[in-house]
Amino acid sequence: MQNDATRSDDAITDRVAPGPVEGSSDVNTNTTLLSMTDTQAFGVENPDGACPILFVSDHAGRAIPQHLGTLGLGEDELSRHIGYDIGIYGVTRELARALDATYIFQPYSRLVIDCNRKPRKPQSVPEISDGTVVPGNAGLTVDQIGAREDEILRPYQDRIKAELDLRLASHRPLVLFAMHSCTDRPRHDPRPRPWDISVIANSDWRIGNALVDVLKSKTKLCVGINEPYVVNMEMDYTIPVHAEGNQIPYVEIEIRQDLIGDESGQRQWASLLSDLFPKAVDRSGVLDS
Ligand SMILES: [Zn+2]
Repeated sequence: MQNDATRSDDAITDRVAPGPVEGSSDVNTNTTLLSMTDTQAFGVENPDGACPILFVSDHAGRAIPQHLGTLGLGEDELSRHIGYDIGIYGVTRELARALDATYIFQPYSRLVIDCNRKPRKPQSVPEISDGTVVPGNAGLTVDQIGAREDEILRPYQDRIKAELDLRLASHRPLVLFAMHSCTDRPRHDPRPRPWDISVIANSDWRIGNALVDVLKSKTKLCVGINEPYVVNMEMDYTIPVHAEGNQIPYVEIEIRQDLIGDESGQRQWASLLSDLFPKAVDRSGVLDS
């Protein structure tokens, strides 16, 4: 497993995990899972970004703590969508740069712990994911699961909360964009997914509806609405805990991974969305006061 703390941003591709970045916190030395040579529990790009949009990615990276080896899986499994959201880090990093927006992302594989699941909910630490048995997640003790929560999930989600609280306290305009990618063809349901991009929300559709309008009027993309997922208010973490119910306008995005699997695709999508996302925010009226 890659854990290359010295690699430059430019060398980051969808096949390796993002390394530590400026603005990330130091690793907690009082840990049982992460060591000083492991990637930090979250990353922050452009921490002083002035844009009202805050980007987050719960599944940006595919790092695994050294202590856990490869979780008993081969590269063919670790590199597919069960390991991480292919391409979304490259897209969102470019978007954040283009819009002068802050981007908080999770560098650890969702096979270690899914940072868009509430603790102890199904698939938080998956023993099976899209048909693949994860040997390193079998028979874990409460303490072993707790270490993954305490050292990876909580620092990441606490960093997002701190960013939201800071902006709310200072009355800065704020919109949350939760960025994901999804497979075009899951093993459990081999019908190809047609949506190039999907717009997902629960009850607050202020940004979502505006973005669907913008995508349909400005592009010929196949736009999904709550496809292939919906927000699960019981099990999901990021939208239910941070946005929905807290009056923070938000949208969750899924881009089909085959469209952003290489740097060229990532740049094209970042360029397109850096034009369309602000238009959707404007059209929604959420920042009008
Ligand atoms: Zn995801």
